[in-house]
Amino acid sequence: MANAPALKFEQIPHPAPVPGATRDQAIADPGFGTVFTDHMISIDWDEGQGWHSARLCAREPILLDPAASVLHYAQEIFEGMKAYKRDDGSMALFRPEKNASRFNDSARRLAMPELPEDAFIEAVETVVKADRDWFPSVEGGSLYIRPFMFANEHFLGVRPAKKYKFLVILSPAGNYFKSGAPAVSIWVSSDYSRAAPGGTGAAKCGGNYAASLVPQAEAIAEGHDQVVFLDAVERKWIEELGGMNLFFVFDDGTMITPPLGGTILPGITRDSLLTLAREEGLTVREERYSLEQWRDDAKSGRLVETLACGTAAVVTPVGRVASRDGEFTIGSGGPGQLTTKLREKLVGIQRGTVEDTHGWVRRID
Ligand SMILES: *Cc1c(COP(=O)(O)O)cnc(C)c1O
Repeated sequence: MANAPALKFEQIPHPAPVPGATRDQAIADPGFGTVFTDHMISIDWDEGQGWHSARLCAREPILLDPAASVLHYAQEIFEGMKAYKRDDGSMALFRPEKNASRFNDSARRLAMPELPEDAFIEAVETVVKADRDWFPSVEGGSLYIRPFMFANEHFLGVRPAKKYKFLVILSPAGNYFKSGAPAVSIWVSSDYSRAAPGGTGAAKCGGNYAASLVPQAEAIAEGHDQVVFLDAVERKWIEELGGMNLFFVFDDGTMITPPLGGTILPGITRDSLLTLAREEGLTVREERYSLEQWRDDAKSGRLVETLACGTAAVVTPVGRVASRDGEFTIGSGGPGQLTTKLREKLVGIQRGTVEDTHGWVRRID
């Protein structure tokens, strides 16, 4: 596909977009993931033509044959990113080339075709520009961007499909946490794993999320916000939450995060925090950390903060950890200093109030 001609996006504007007044009401307090914009991007792939029929069109239901392979064998991957409206009125994306390349990493793991990175970025920019009136008016709001791809060949044999669809939809999102970032309470799953060596843990695929729903529901039933998973082999090492990576901060100025190695999703927020924390003068290591050590260090006071991170909630303090063996509190149980500092720095870069010294921000218009 390297020399394939660049895709041309046909523009088929929505014939009857949501009226301005209705839209303004919907984006006044959109919450997360329930409000959607007028348009979407759609690109098709098949064996004969490769990527084709790229278009910006009305967001509408898609017709699927009941035998479409995604419905049976779950060949589906996705990305999650945000567009930000800045004080000067411009729009920006944060490290979108990272999402484009991770999308292709996921595609390879799920035996799906890769989408050229420039087509991925053009798709995202095209739909954000078309729906620029959908940015939430609330402080801290953004347009959440969901690119995804699924197999839609109708065939029940078990092999990689020969037809795929790539779509991008947008969802206006409020501030994930309305008043800053309250500390969350997390539940260690004793019975379930998110990912095993050789599995799909490093791919952003819907199947990983399907498998995390029962343990996540268990966490809620136990009175906690999120589930944290241990490694599947020794059931000892901390891996990550269902959809966020973890960092541990110590009183001697070191910070560690579990190493990538196939069972952890390589978060772009995680990668950015590794850089920002080093700039803050911390000694940062990618290193395994056990549940037992976590508990001991929290009790001794050596561990001062734990934070979870991901695109949706950015940086979230972890205040309490519970498992079948009991519970422990981290620091004061509230947001720690470094967590708050890193969050402000990252959000500032994304929104244009802190200088972008790494070339992470990509202006759209
Ligand atoms: C998407 C995701 C993350 C966070 O990745 P970001 O690129 O920082 O948004 C972490 N863990 C899992 C399992 C994820 O799916």
